Amino acid sequence: MQTKIDETVALLKQAQDEYGPDLVFASSFGAEDVVLIDLISKNASGIRVVTLDTGRLPQQTYDVMDACREKYGLDIQVFFPDASEVELMVRESGLNLFYQSVKNRKHCCEIRKIHPLKRALSGAKAWITGVRREQASSRQSMAAIEDDVHFGIKKFNPLIEWREADVWEYIRANDVPYNALHDQHYPSIGCACCTRSVTVGEDPRSGRWWWEHEDGVAECGLHASPLKKT
Ligand code: SF4
Repeated sequence: MQTKIDETVALLKQAQDEYGPDLVFASSFGAEDVVLIDLISKNASGIRVVTLDTGRLPQQTYDVMDACREKYGLDIQVFFPDASEVELMVRESGLNLFYQSVKNRKHCCEIRKIHPLKRALSGAKAWITGVRREQASSRQSMAAIEDDVHFGIKKFNPLIEWREADVWEYIRANDVPYNALHDQHYPSIGCACCTRSVTVGEDPRSGRWWWEHEDGVAECGLHASPLKKT
């Protein structure tokens, strides 16, 4: 475990040394992301922390954001969707458009997540994420350092080799604030309307967009872009 922590800290420091103010940690405040917030606060403070508020997040996510802000004295930059884009989308397709078709769901993720993420990453040369290989079959080929072709910048995945047990061991040992929904069988937490709990043995991300799983576990597009290993 200590070896994994040391390797993760080394990668965070490497990213900070190489990219300085052009480095961004995009956090959704899931279990992996609070581990990174703790590690960054203790070992690489100064890395900019951004998050997206889609407007449909569960209250428990706001609670953990504020708990981290308080515990670590974090300056968290919250990016919101463009109000006029949301208004047009809702006017054309309704508030619950994501249940109607995959196309509508992707459109909603585009407006509420991808566009704000593009603004959050604007000017950045590298970003950090909390993805782990074990989380989904779609993440098997991811590496610790990648070229993110979609956003045209470097991508660091310092927890790529961590197992779920490692994440929780770290959270408990370091008294890290975490999203209360994890205690209700939500391994992966996104928007309230598009996330549900999972049962034992299910893919950890199967609670996301569960109604469209015929083709496997869905991704929102934040980490599904074409990537190549470096
Ligand atoms: S997860 Fe659901 S509500 Fe959130 S942006 Fe995507 S489709 Fe919209």
